[in-house]
This record gives sequence, structure tokens and C-alpha cells, in this order.
Amino acid sequence: MENTITEVLYLISIVIFIIGLKGLSHPESARKGNLTAGAGMGLAILVALFAPIAGGDNNYQWIVGAMMVGSIIGLIAAKRVALTSMPEMVSLFNGLGGATAMIIGFVEFYNLSAGQEMMSATVLTNLFALVVGAVSFSGSLIAWGKLNGSLRDSLKLPLPHVINILTLVAIIGFSAYIMMQPTLPFNLVILLTALSLFYGIAFVTPIGGGDMPVVISLLNSFTGIGAAGAGLIYANHVMIIGGILVGASGTILTVLMCKAMNRSLLNVIIGGLGSKGSGAGSDREQVIKEANSGDLAIQLKYASKVSIVPGYGLAVAQAQHVCHELEHTLEAEGVEVKYAIHPVAGRMPGHMNVLLAEADVSYDKLQELEQANEDFNSTDVVLVIGANDVVNPAAKEDSSSPIYGMPILDVEQAKKVVVLKRSMRSGYAGIENPLFFGENTNMLFGDAKESLNKLKEEVKNA
Ligand code: NDP
Repeated sequence: MENTITEVLYLISIVIFIIGLKGLSHPESARKGNLTAGAGMGLAILVALFAPIAGGDNNYQWIVGAMMVGSIIGLIAAKRVALTSMPEMVSLFNGLGGATAMIIGFVEFYNLSAGQEMMSATVLTNLFALVVGAVSFSGSLIAWGKLNGSLRDSLKLPLPHVINILTLVAIIGFSAYIMMQPTLPFNLVILLTALSLFYGIAFVTPIGGGDMPVVISLLNSFTGIGAAGAGLIYANHVMIIGGILVGASGTILTVLMCKAMNRSLLNVIIGGLGSKGSGAGSDREQVIKEANSGDLAIQLKYASKVSIVPGYGLAVAQAQHVCHELEHTLEAEGVEVKYAIHPVAGRMPGHMNVLLAEADVSYDKLQELEQANEDFNSTDVVLVIGANDVVNPAAKEDSSSPIYGMPILDVEQAKKVVVLKRSMRSGYAGIENPLFFGENTNMLFGDAKESLNKLKEEVKNA
């Protein structure tokens, strides 16, 4: 009877969890979706805590103590993190999920090691959780280090792809050998754990720092699969389904990110864009035109349609609030203002949506890539704020460019383009942007927040 109640409560928490995930698919419902999924997870934890364990001790003092420490650390970290550092934090938290799966696999092997006979299904699930969890853990730590700059991109192992393949073959070989033994060779389990941790390091180290968000999404799917494996060990349905959901969504996200950058996953893993490609510009002397913010304010005030293209620099400058104020100021003058959102603008999926939502920009003002591209030729002024690669025409025109084939926002089709950035420095792809030298392009140099503040005041006074 008690087991049935436990299973029903697990089922309810899974349903709540799935409803929450569904909510995450739209910006308007995302906040609620996140809370709903959290509530589902909270219920699952409570059920796991109070579920009866056959002949066991629930060890409440350890569990509650660990939960309190974890919750306090998580709360402080989530409150303090800057939006631009979000991928780093996701990576670290993901690594901890991987570590958990690895520890579960390891501890269960330790419990088995007293010479008792092994069931091959148990060994297989333990191996799975151990290996996948360990790879995800060490790989996520390397990704975290690369993102926060403590590990340099130039740090590489010799012959990285050879080492990767040899390590992977060794992991598969040892796993198969362990499976075939009548009793557990625990020393080999320790060796396998070390090899898996090493593989995570060797797998992520050669990948360029800028490709880390894609790698994190991939590692996230590994963690989900590892957690599902750990769920199999305990025949815990909520862990299995939760893990599968994380694994599937991580895989879908990885595929979508690769698609938006027009790159294959293999290209990301082997390293292309992150290791700075060609297409860095021509030898021809090129001239840029600087914008005067007074003149630009007048043009904006008398425009009928203005489009804003936000990019990574908007997040760096934390200029989302002043950008929203400029939008209000222009609308008060009768100007129609829209935001053109590129799917990989910024440094994480949905970065620009989150940033603009923080400033309360209305969702119906956001245009997706295709829709924005249809509208540019009827737009008077496009303000490109801290964006670079996502408006780089080389993606269409230069087949030697590392971003060739990536769909971009065709801002050059508008009557006028003004790019707000601090210098002529390149963006994430490390390449020159011919848009900056375009006929109808002007550059407004400076920190995006300062430039927008000035522009807003000048529009008011124009
Ligand atoms: P980019 O990285 O191409 O360019 C950002 C620009 O912002 C820089 O050129 C920089 O120029 C400018 N900038 C930085 N700080 C400021 C500031 N304070 N004020 C004004 N400007 C500033 O960004 P995009 O958003 O255009 O493109 C995103 C790139 O990231 C793409 O190449 C994408 O493939 C990649 N990527 C995105 C992922 C995602 O999920 N979103 C994941 C992985 C990669 P300057 O220094 O001169 O100011």
C-alpha cells in the first residue's frame, strides 16, 4: 500500500514537472514554468525522503543537513550571478549533477565488491551512471574554467583526437571486461572512474572557449542520461523520467544551437570556429563613417519604423533598461519600434529574450529572424547594439569565412544602419565585419549604455 502511494506521488510530481517544462517553451509562461517544475521536483524530493526503505534507515540528519547546505549555496549563487556569467553557473551545476551520478555508480559498485555474485543488468546500469556521470563532471569543470577565463584556450593536450579515441576505446574495453567477471574487480572500477574523468577533460579541452555553450548543452544531456542510469539502479521512476527529460532536452538544444550557427556537432567538437578561422578581412583600405548622436537623434525622432538588434555587447553593458527607455521615448514620438532577435545572439540560447524580459520589454515587440528579415527593407533605422557576428554579411558572401552559411539578420537592407560598440574589435567569431564599412552604415563608438543614455536625452531634446 505504502509503495503504491509513493508511486502515485512520484507520478504526480512527474506530471507537474512536464507541465513546468511545457511552460518553459514560451517567454511569457517561462517564469511560471520554472516555478512549476521546481515544485514538481520539490514534491519528488519529499516523497523520496519519506518513502519507506525496506529494512533501511532514512539517515535524515545527513540528508536534511546536505539539502540545507546545498539550498543555501544554490540560492546565493543564483541571486548573485550576472546574466553574462549564466553559462558558467549552468556548467558548474551541471557538473555537480554528473558527479552525483558518478558517486551513485561508484558507491553501488563498492557495496557489490564484497565478493558477491553480480547481476549483469545491475553492473551495466552502475557502469553507465559511473562513466557518463564522470565524463560530464570533469568536462563541465573544464567548460566552467574556460568560460570564466581561468583556463586558456591555448591549453591543449598533445595529439588530442588520438588521445580521445584511445581513452574511449579503453573505457569501452574495461567496461566490457568488468561485465564479464563473475565477481567484481573493484580496482578496475577505480581505474575506470579515473579514465572516465580523464576522458571528460580530454574531450572538452580542445574545444574553443566560445563553443562552450554548445558543449555545456551536450554535457547537460550526458548528465540527464547519467541520472536516468542512476535511476535505473534504484528502480526510481522519477529519476529515470527526469533524467530522460533532461537528456532529451539537452540533445534538442544542442542540435538547435548547431543549426542556428549552421555547424555540425562534429565541427564544434573537433574545433572550427573557436580556433579562429580565416575570412579576417580584405587588404583593401576600408573607410568607416562615424555617427553623430545629435544627427542620429533627429533621424530616429522623425523615422516611422526603427528596429533594434541586440547582441552580446548589450548584455555586457547591461544596457537593456536604457534601451527600453529609448524605445518608450521613440514610441511617444509616434515611431514604431521592434526588436530583431537572432537565435544565437549573446552567449546562451534565449540570452536576448531573457535580457529584454528583465527590462520588461513587451514580447509582442520581439521579431524572430525570418520575420525581421522580411521587414528590414521597410525600416528607416536599424540600431545594432553590441551585436557583431549575427549581422555579419560575410556569412552570406564569403565562402572562406568561418561563419559562412550561418543565417544572419540582413540589416543592410534597411535605409540606415547604426552600430553601437566600443571599437572595431571583432565579436566571438574573431572576424572582421564588412557591414561596418557599408554605404548606409554609421558607427557610434562607446559603451552601449552610455551611448543609449545620451541618445535618449537627445531624442527628447531634438
Ligand atoms: P558578438 O560576440 O559577435 O559581438 C559582440 C560585440 O559587442 C563585440 O564586437 C563588442 O565590440 C561589443 N561589445 C562588447 N561590450 C560592449 C559594450 N559594453 N558596449 C557596446 N558594445 C560592446 O555578439 P553577437 O551577439 O552578435 O553574436 C553572438 C556570437 O556568439 C555568435 O557568433 C554566436 O554563434 C556565438 N555563440 C552564441 C551562443 C548562444 O547560444 N547565443 C552559443 C555559442 C556561441 P567592442 O569590443 O568593440 O565593443
